[in-house]
Amino acid sequence: MKKKRFQQKKVIVCCGEKMTSLTIRPWMQVGFVLVCLAAAYWVLQTSVLYFFSNDLIRTREIALAEKQSENNRLKKELAYYQNRVEQSEKLALDIQQAHKDILDKVDLLVSEEIKNAEGGFEKVEKLLKENGAPISTLLQKVKKEENVGGPYIPDMSSALLTFPYAQKLTTVYDKVDYLESLVTLSDQMPLGYPISETRISAAFGSRKDPFTGKRARHEGIDIAAALKTPVHATAPGVVKRAFTNGAYGKFIEIEHEAGFMTRYAHLSEILVKKGDVIQTGDKIGLTGNTGRSTGPHLHYEILIGKNPVNPYRFLRTQRGKSNV
Ligand SMILES: [Zn+2]
Repeated sequence: MKKKRFQQKKVIVCCGEKMTSLTIRPWMQVGFVLVCLAAAYWVLQTSVLYFFSNDLIRTREIALAEKQSENNRLKKELAYYQNRVEQSEKLALDIQQAHKDILDKVDLLVSEEIKNAEGGFEKVEKLLKENGAPISTLLQKVKKEENVGGPYIPDMSSALLTFPYAQKLTTVYDKVDYLESLVTLSDQMPLGYPISETRISAAFGSRKDPFTGKRARHEGIDIAAALKTPVHATAPGVVKRAFTNGAYGKFIEIEHEAGFMTRYAHLSEILVKKGDVIQTGDKIGLTGNTGRSTGPHLHYEILIGKNPVNPYRFLRTQRGKSNV
């Protein structure tokens, strides 16, 4: 027969001389064991939670400290970069201001140069207008020729458009372009004297013919000079004619850009030939007394298109000088 685990038990308790019998029933024993087990479970769980939660808190505290440290580092880094950005912005503003200052200076200089260059054409402008070749028309010709290998004009559709002073920059470039055209035109026009002598012995226009004594048209200017004085081209060009030409005697004709032509007559010697490319100042001949001439001198003509014009103002205009 199987023995029951929880049997009814009797406990005799002596209290002085009195003896008392206590009956402990099976359910009391089961209850006592259950209470003990519950107490043990509670103690165990509390202990485990206590130790593990401490570890968890410590781990979280460490993680928090690390994050705070990282946060501080990032804050410092942010402050550093904000500072760098501020410095860069300040530098950018300084550079922009410097650009503006430079542009203003360039603008001023170019404007002054334009004024000088335009002033240089003052004396000849009326003549040019009368001959249907005002400066504006001649500048158009110069511009067309500049299309190949002309001045560098940046593409304003590029990043330059984002430049804060793009409009100002465009204006300055336009002025520089205009100035270059003026200078190019000035270089191409027959300006100054073809010889070192400057005494005019016969003016342009109507005069008494030295041979017939009758009024006749003189289509050039005569500059008195000793025999064999060197004659220089007054502008770059190409020799169109160079031979002995009746009344002109030994004669040179040079075709220049922008529709100008110069003629040099009564020479004693011709030092160029047809087709030669001539630069300003090149020695092309020597003065003489050939052809219809009464003494050594240079007969000098300037033509615009096919029209002879008075060379006087061209003789008196020097390249790059506004006051002539
Ligand atoms: Zn003459």
